[in-house]
Amino acid sequence: MPVAVATRNPDKFAEIVQLWGDAPPALVIAGPEYPDVDERFSTYEENAVLKASELARIRGGPALADDSGIEVEALGWAPGVLSARTPSPDSSPSERNELILGQFAALGNVSRRARYVCVCALVVPGHEPVIGRGEVEGEIALGPRGSGGFGYDPIFCYPPYGRTFGEVDIGLKHAVSHRGRAIRALRKKLTLRS
Ligand code: IMP
Repeated sequence: MPVAVATRNPDKFAEIVQLWGDAPPALVIAGPEYPDVDERFSTYEENAVLKASELARIRGGPALADDSGIEVEALGWAPGVLSARTPSPDSSPSERNELILGQFAALGNVSRRARYVCVCALVVPGHEPVIGRGEVEGEIALGPRGSGGFGYDPIFCYPPYGRTFGEVDIGLKHAVSHRGRAIRALRKKLTLRS
């Protein structure tokens, strides 16, 4: 039975499929049966397990979910788990990016250190969740750059590349990204178990 991915975001699904690779099990995007899940917990782990468990329960089969966010040192590591709801769930990606850039403008000359965090959870009914976590360190750019990726990518600069994730080829993002690292960590645990 294929693994359903608990997201309605086709960009995120596409990234997860590319990172998952060709090795089985196959992935499918969650259908309309996947409800709006209230991501009520304060950790990525709990929210990822909640989303995957809810979908696994509804379809009676395996489900994969990720929970991710951007953490900015100068903002007390916010927005973190609230990244998709800051300032509101309906905000556009450019509104979210402008909010962070505006906060930096008000703060003056402070550290622009930031990181992306991603936790993936695979839930198979009747089994303990398998979890993979990944992080990538970077800096908030002075302004948005590039049209690749999604979400906060145009303002997330990855210093070893000297470019934002919005400017780099998707393969370069995958090689170092939080989601790439989380999925590779999860797949490694699956290999060790089988
Ligand atoms: P969630 O994991 O669906 O709760 O959403 C996480 C939030 O962080 C969303 O607003 C995403 O746009 C953002 N985010 C997570 N990963 C990435 C990424 O790889 N690039 C850009 N934004 C991301």
